[in-house]
Amino acid sequence: MKVRYSYLQQQFANPEPIFEGIRELLKSGAFTLGPQVAEFEGKFAQLIGTKYAIGVASGTDALKLPLKALGVGHGDEVITAANTFIATVGAINEIGATARFVDATPNYVMDATQIERAITKKTKAIMPVHFTGEPVEMEQVLYVSKKYSLPIVEDACQSILCKYKGQTCGTFGSAGGFSLHPLKNLNVWADGGVIVTNDAEMDRKLRLLRNHGLKNRDEIEVLGYNSRLDTIQAIVGNWLIPQTRAITSKRQENAAYYDAAFMKMDGLVRLPPKRANCERVYHLYIFEVDEKHRNPLLQFLLNSGIEAKVHYPIPLYQQEGLRHLGYKAGDFPETDRHSRHIITLPVDQHLSREEQDYCIGKVQEYFTKAK
Ligand SMILES: *Cc1c(COP(=O)(O)O)cnc(C)c1O
Repeated sequence: MKVRYSYLQQQFANPEPIFEGIRELLKSGAFTLGPQVAEFEGKFAQLIGTKYAIGVASGTDALKLPLKALGVGHGDEVITAANTFIATVGAINEIGATARFVDATPNYVMDATQIERAITKKTKAIMPVHFTGEPVEMEQVLYVSKKYSLPIVEDACQSILCKYKGQTCGTFGSAGGFSLHPLKNLNVWADGGVIVTNDAEMDRKLRLLRNHGLKNRDEIEVLGYNSRLDTIQAIVGNWLIPQTRAITSKRQENAAYYDAAFMKMDGLVRLPPKRANCERVYHLYIFEVDEKHRNPLLQFLLNSGIEAKVHYPIPLYQQEGLRHLGYKAGDFPETDRHSRHIITLPVDQHLSREEQDYCIGKVQEYFTKAK
């Protein structure tokens, strides 16, 4: 049996409604910022429950533009998670600022109790990352944000519809950034991103920044970027967005199915602690094993046709491309521990129970043989 990681062929197996939308677009020629972009923004704002949503070119830009709008730039520092995808750091870097990391909790997300220690005179913003689709402890982030007057821009790229104490991720701070990348829970056919905010002035600035700073055809208010959400991608998004809640529920059901099976495995397989009042949306399903078993089990799963992965085997702060940040081995022990213990299994909405049973069976088989 093969258990693929990418489910995109299944997701877009019946693309006729999308093709129809693209045919309509051809008639109008509104290839940049067509009415379909505004339609998507309206639907997205409604989905998340914010006043505004602004479509941009990528999830990276969905983080970069709010920082820029807040005036963060050269010489400034932004506090974020040591355990994240490189795009978080890339967004901070692109505006000339420097990422300062804090370590993770056993739930793989930024440990909000460590933020205060990372604050310096140069700190200008906090960027919590709801990694894997699990919320950061936002009460603590809000406390620090208020105490030091530091704005929050949430990296919600992996966490569409994720909730912390009943409140949707992306709505806690000045703005929240989401990715529409093909591998994210709400995915289009290329790069895309969207920013949510409840602040009218932030919305206005973001609309300027994503379109060269153009106030109208002839007047430039600020220096901006070319970072518009492509109209074709908005058409794909408009087709998919009504399915977002169903996609989320299916991922949660799949995760619960894995959880129930793995909890029976005598502690050989360990799961991150369950937190009350948090609704996880399972962009990634991660479990842990002893360090000595991780690579052999991963290899066994791969040899069995299961596209298991590790998010991530090398922590960002130990990457060559981030050496200039000045961190040294051991600075983020929990992030390091994850890199040695974790395995990611497919958990997407198109995964079948047979495929899940096969994955579970192969993990069991590995441990039976290892004994
Ligand atoms: C996907 C992702 C981003 C943004 O990535 P893009 O490829 O630019 O859409 C940012 N942060 C995290 C944590 C991500 O997973």
